[in-house]
Amino acid sequence: MTDFTATRRAFHLPPGITYLDGNSLGPMPRHAADRAAAMMRDEWAEMLITGWNRAGWYVQPRRVGDRIARLIGAGEGQVVMGDTLSVKVFQAVSAALRLRPGRRVILSDSGNFPSDLYVAQGLADAVGAELRVVAPEDVAANIDSDLAVLMLTEVDYRTGRRHDMAALTAAAHDAGALAVWDLAHSAGAVDVDLLGADADFAVGCTYKYLNGGPGAPAFIWAHPRHADAAQPCLQGWMGHAAPFAFDQSYAPAPGIERMRVGTPPVIALTALDAALDVWDGVALPDLRARSIELSEAFIHGVEAACPGVTLHSPRDPARRGSQVGFRHPHAHAVMQALIAEGVIGDFRAPDVLRFGFAPLYNDLDDVARAVDRLAAILRDGRWDRPEFHQRADVT
Ligand SMILES: *Cc1c(COP(=O)(O)O)cnc(C)c1O
Repeated sequence: MTDFTATRRAFHLPPGITYLDGNSLGPMPRHAADRAAAMMRDEWAEMLITGWNRAGWYVQPRRVGDRIARLIGAGEGQVVMGDTLSVKVFQAVSAALRLRPGRRVILSDSGNFPSDLYVAQGLADAVGAELRVVAPEDVAANIDSDLAVLMLTEVDYRTGRRHDMAALTAAAHDAGALAVWDLAHSAGAVDVDLLGADADFAVGCTYKYLNGGPGAPAFIWAHPRHADAAQPCLQGWMGHAAPFAFDQSYAPAPGIERMRVGTPPVIALTALDAALDVWDGVALPDLRARSIELSEAFIHGVEAACPGVTLHSPRDPARRGSQVGFRHPHAHAVMQALIAEGVIGDFRAPDVLRFGFAPLYNDLDDVARAVDRLAAILRDGRWDRPEFHQRADVT
C-alpha cells in the first residue's frame, strides 16, 4: 500500500493553506530546493563545462524521462524531456502528420486546452492541413477515413472529463489515423497506460501533478513502432545523431532522442528529478483510488452544503480525472474570497470554480476545510465585496 501520509510530509505546504491547485502548479517537495542549490554549487560552480559529462547533464533528459515513463505506462528509453508542452504538442502532431502522408485532417475537441488548439492551427496553416474541432462527446463520431491525426487531451482542464484513451485510439487506428495524447492533467493524477492503450504519441508537462516547479520541462513519448520512423519538424542539434560532429546536414538521433531540440534546462531538470523521488513508493492503482476517494468526498460535501453551485464535472468517477469543477455565476469573485480564506483552487473562464485533488499531498481534512469555507462564503455572500471583483494578470 502506498503511504500517502509519508508522501504528504515530503512537501512544503505553507501553514494555514489548503492547496487544491496542484493541477496548475504542484507545491515544492522539500528536498527539491536543496538539490537544485547543490547542483549549482557542486556541479555548475565547480565543474564548469565539464559538468555535461562528469555530472551527466547531457543524458539527463533521457534519464529523467525514464522516471516519468513508469508513471504513464511507457517503457524505458521511450520518453525524453525538454522545452514546454506547447512545443512538444507541435513536435508530436507534426511527426504524426508526416507519418500519414496524403491525409490532412487533424481532429480535436473544444474541451482541449487553447494552446494545443493554437499550435495545431498554426501547424495546419503552415503545411496545408485542416484542424477540425468538435464537441468532446462527438469525437468518436467524427473519426473517419480523412483523418490523419487525432489530437486529444485525456483529461479536460476545465471539467475533468476523461476520454477513453484505449477506445478512441482503437477507433483512430481503425480509420488509418494516429492518436496523439496530451497528458497534462493525467500524468501523476490518474493511472495512465500508454502502451496498454496502444497510443502513438504522448506529451505532458511536469509542473502540474508531477511538482517539478514553475516552467519545469515537458516530456514527449513515441510508441516504439514510431520512434525511429518519426521525422522531427524541429530539427535541433541536440536531436541529431551526432551533435558534436557539427555536420552541416541533419540526421536524427535513434529513437525518442530525436525529439530533443536544443540545450536542456539543467537546473530545472535537477529540481524535477528531485521532485520525482516522491513517486518512488507510489503505486498507480493506489493513486487512482485515493484520487477518487478525495473527489467523491468533495462533490458530496459541496452538494450537501453549498447553495448556488452546479457540478461541471462528470458524476461518474470513472469518467473523471483528478479535478472537480463547479459552476457559479460569480465564480471569479467566489474563488478570490476562498483564496483570501486560505483555500486555493482556481477560476477558469467563464464561470468555473476548479479544484484539483493531488493524491500525494491532499487528504480528507483538506476536502472538509474547502467544503466548509466554500459553504460559509456562499451562505453569507461575502464574495460580493469589491476587492474580490478585481482581476489579476494570471487567474
Ligand atoms: C497546462 C497545459 C498546457 C501548457 O503548456 P505550456 O507550453 O507548458 O505552457 C498545454 N496544454 C494543456 C492540455 C495543458 O493542460
